[in-house]
Parts: sequence; structure tokens; C-alpha cells
Amino acid sequence: MNEVAANFSAHPVLEGDISTGRLERVLRSGRFAVTAELNPPDSADPEDTFRQALVLSQVCDAINATDASGANCHMSSMGICALLTRAGYSPVLQISCRDRNRIAIQGDVLGAAAMGVHNILCLTGDGVETGDQPGAKPVFDLDSTTLLSAIRGMRDDARFLSGRRISTPPDVFLGAAANPFAPPYDWRPLRLAKKIEAGAQFIQTQYCYDIEMLRRYMGVVRDLGLDEKCFILVGVGPLASAKAARWIRANVPGVHIPDAVIERLAGARDQKHEGKQICIDLIEEIREIKGVSGVHVMAYRQEHLVTEIIQKSGILKNRIINAETARSARRTEEATAVS
Ligand SMILES: Cc1cc2nc3c(=O)[nH]c(=O)nc-3n(C[C@H](O)[C@H](O)[C@H](O)COP(=O)(O)OP(=O)(O)OC[C@H]3O[C@@H](n4cnc5c(N)ncnc54)[C@H](O)[C@@H]3O)c2cc1C
Repeated sequence: MNEVAANFSAHPVLEGDISTGRLERVLRSGRFAVTAELNPPDSADPEDTFRQALVLSQVCDAINATDASGANCHMSSMGICALLTRAGYSPVLQISCRDRNRIAIQGDVLGAAAMGVHNILCLTGDGVETGDQPGAKPVFDLDSTTLLSAIRGMRDDARFLSGRRISTPPDVFLGAAANPFAPPYDWRPLRLAKKIEAGAQFIQTQYCYDIEMLRRYMGVVRDLGLDEKCFILVGVGPLASAKAARWIRANVPGVHIPDAVIERLAGARDQKHEGKQICIDLIEEIREIKGVSGVHVMAYRQEHLVTEIIQKSGILKNRIINAETARSARRTEEATAVS
């Protein structure tokens, strides 16, 4: 095994870390969950992936492996999940419908489940025109909702979309994305309802920088009873500077950053530190909103900040243990049982 992967067990871990169903178990137990996005490398070196996973796994219940987000090519979600499951991590396989048809995707779902991937995030995916290869041929044979129901059928009915039987169905926990912060706002909770109806069990949202907008969205979600039908993890991430925030607002589709946030960054002496603090402040407010089950941290090129953000936000209080504490607790339990 790779040296970095082999060493990860020596680092502080969360209880039950080496379990593919950890995210689902944490959510079902009512604990506030944390997931984080791994920035896929532009490299064929597995160390790049293991290095990031090592940092994220200290504070996360699952690590998301993105699928060419922004329609830019990087190491594939499937490749990252293969590396992560081999090292004992619990990843979320992201599947975008932009690049593969139903034949390829259903095969990937079986392959991923066979490798030990338990979580799948079903996405329509960003259009090719948003990426750095706008001439690429878009597929979109399925979209997020038809993908959800296709995988649910594979899992619950043991059938491919064709109706052909699957001898061992994939044991998967199904997720989808939501964007409460992009118009048309009234339509967003209805889109969420459709995804739940199609099989979504957990939701990871786009970045939240506007807490009032999230409160309004969650109010409608609760009125519709949707928070009782799926687990909602709200997307958060540190902004590196006011300049970066302005760029993201202008260029990343669907990301809404209010003027007040940009002004707070611009007025700070250390903008990077302020960006981190804004993220921590948001997490503290998000966790108080009824119906929210966790946060999803997307720290693009700032994954080294994730541990500090999560720890300072206090959301994992009483949840973090380290491997040695766990081992000694087990030894004490065993000794008590014998005596
Ligand atoms: C947590 C998260 C992770 C992501 N990861 C990836 C990734 O790995 N790869 C990637 O390519 N993209 C990724 N994205 C981007 C995502 O694919 C786009 O933001 C997409 O536009 C919305 O998510 P979706 O794919 O589930 O689209 P859907 O909700 O299925 O919608 C597809 C598009 O159609 C629009 N639409 C459909 N019907 C209507 C209507 N009636 N009125 C108005 N608009 C309509 C939607 O607004 C959206 O733009 C991610 C987004 C999030 C929030």
C-alpha cells in the first residue's frame, strides 16, 4: 500500500471512520454531519489524492470526489474513489450526466459499489460551454432525476434500466445537489421535491453566503415536509479575498455572494483570515436552522483550511477521538467484559 495511505490510520480519526456507510449512519443517528470536497488533481500521482484525503478525513464523515465540475477535466471521480476505497476512506462518487450515457453510468455504479463506494451524488452536471473545452460533445442522455431513479431501480428492484436482472444489487445511499441561492427561487424547493421523489436521500447544496436566503428556503422546505424525507447538507467554503469573491460571483454559475460579504472581506486587514472567519460564522448560523442535517465544505485549493474551519466552528464537539483513544477505550471495554 502507498506510504501515505498506509500511514493514515496513525492519524486522528473519527469513530467508525473505516466504514463505507459512515455518512448515512451519522445522518440517521441525528448527528450533524460534515462532508468535504476533494480537489481532483491534474496529475496521475496517487499521492496528490492521498495527501488531501489525509487532511479531510480528520474532520469529515465522507469525502466527495467531484466529476469534472465546471466541465473542466481533472482526475476522474471514479479514479479518486478507487484510490480512496483502497485506502479505507468513505467517498461520495459524483456522477455528472454530461460525459457518459446510461450504459456507461450503470456499469460505473456496479463497479463503484463493488469497490466499496456507498454514497453517490447524482448531478445533471455543468454544461460543456462553462469549461475550458467548450467544443467537447455533451451527452446528457440522463439528467439528475432520471439518474436518481435509474440507480434506485438498480438498488431496490435489482434491474438495469433495460429491465435486465442484476444478481447482486448495489448497496448505495443516493444524493443530489440543490441550489437555493439562484433564481427562480420559488421553483427551487419544488425541484428538491422532484429529486426526493426520484430517490434522493441526501442533498448537498451550492455555496451558502446568504443566511437569510437559506432561512427562507428552509422555511418552504419545512412547510413541504421535505426536510423529513431527506438529509440536507448546506454547502460552505472560505473565500480567499474580495477579489476572488468578485471573480466567483461573476464567473461561477449559480454562486450568489451578497455585497455585504464582499465589503466585509475588502475592509479586513487580512482578507484570507476574514474569509475563513466568515465561513466559520456561517456554519455556526447554519447549524441552528431547523431541518439542516450538516454542512458540505468546498474549499477550492484551500483544503488545508478545512480542519481549522470545522474545529473552530465547534460542530464536531464531543465527536472527535483519536485512534489511540479508541484503542484504549476498546481495551478497557474488553478488560471489563473479562473481569
Ligand atoms: C454540491 C455540488 C456539487 C457539484 N458537483 C459537480 C460536478 O462534480 N460536476 C459537474 O459538472 N457539476 C457539478 N455541480 C454543478 C451542478 O451540476 C450545476 O450547478 C447544475 O446546474 C445544478 O445541479 P444539477 O446538476 O443537480 O442540476 P439539475 O437540478 O438537474 O438542473 C439542471 C439545470 O437545468 C436547470 N433547470 C431545469 N429545469 C428548469 C426550470 N424549469 N427552470 C429553470 N431552470 C431549470 C437547472 O437550474 C440547472 O441549471 C455541483 C453542484 C453542487 C451544488
